[in-house]
Amino acid sequence: MNIQDLIRPTVKALKPYSSARDEYQGSSNDMVFLDANENPFENGVNRYPDPQQRTVKYLLSEIKGIPQENILLGNGSDEVLDLIYRAFCEPNQDNIITLPPTYGMYNVLANINAIEVKSVQLDENFQPKVETILDIANSNSKLLFICSPNNPTGNSFESKSIERLVKEFNGIVVIDEAYIDFSNKISWASRLGDFSNLIVTQTLSKAYGMAGIRLGICFASEEIISVLNRIKPPYNVNELTQQKAIVQLEQNELTQKQVQAILSERDALIHKLSEISFVSNIYPSDANFVLAKVDDATKRYNQLIKKGIVIRNRTNQPGCENCLRFTIGTPEENKILIDTLKSI
Ligand SMILES: *Cc1c(COP(=O)(O)O)cnc(C)c1O
Repeated sequence: MNIQDLIRPTVKALKPYSSARDEYQGSSNDMVFLDANENPFENGVNRYPDPQQRTVKYLLSEIKGIPQENILLGNGSDEVLDLIYRAFCEPNQDNIITLPPTYGMYNVLANINAIEVKSVQLDENFQPKVETILDIANSNSKLLFICSPNNPTGNSFESKSIERLVKEFNGIVVIDEAYIDFSNKISWASRLGDFSNLIVTQTLSKAYGMAGIRLGICFASEEIISVLNRIKPPYNVNELTQQKAIVQLEQNELTQKQVQAILSERDALIHKLSEISFVSNIYPSDANFVLAKVDDATKRYNQLIKKGIVIRNRTNQPGCENCLRFTIGTPEENKILIDTLKSI
């Protein structure tokens, strides 16, 4: 597939803004920096951050086993997704394909960017209908969003379905792996060499425990990364975010321990939920939340809110009638949830 043909003409023609710190990339020791109109008095954040976030990328590259040249970072994955839209989708002309029930941001970003959304609902097992998806795509279908493990259903999609979609869809396939760190499935980022049209997004917001710093990750070919680099705001990941990410990524064993604790709590919660009289189905989860069907989702949601417990009511999502989504909390929080469910 020729990626150059998929890029918007305006983006192809763009001459990117060159920031002061882009032009000078040497080491900062012993240099006198009079290039960026900063306040020279040191306070920890008086300098512009590294626009290429090299230390964060180095650590991520080590942890994830993906070369730094194949990584782009954003202000949350939401910024990464927005960059992907702006690189490939011509407003009022192109369309994208989503597979509901799924993450709401794909639709919101399409609406902001004036891009048509084509939807193909997942089947009754929350798996993609591969034939229907490939049939509905046309020459203006630039992006296909595959969220696996999927939010809000929690399951991973079958590898052979994903592989066929990546192979046969004539546009960019974005695999959103926000929850991959809770799954024992191998990341599709390991297959970048096989598919030139593949983009994989991940985030530090979930397993890595850093939702507050806003750091999203994009893995793709060097060709796609260089397109996204052309259009990203120069200093899109701030200094405090980079510093905190570095500290946390350097203690990756702690994250892995927390993930294991969350997974064993998930198993315990699923077991306890199955004993609740008004819970009729608990869907398999490859993530840090579970989707459960109840007798009356809105009633149960309101009862929990009154007791001070906030969960997500997904009853209005296609295929999710009377479904509630529970994030796995600490053992104490999960106990409060179960005790409350038993009492209502
Ligand atoms: C939580 C979540 C994200 C994370 O977004 P950030 O902007 O990185 O916090 C991305 N995709 C899905 C499906 C999510 O559930």
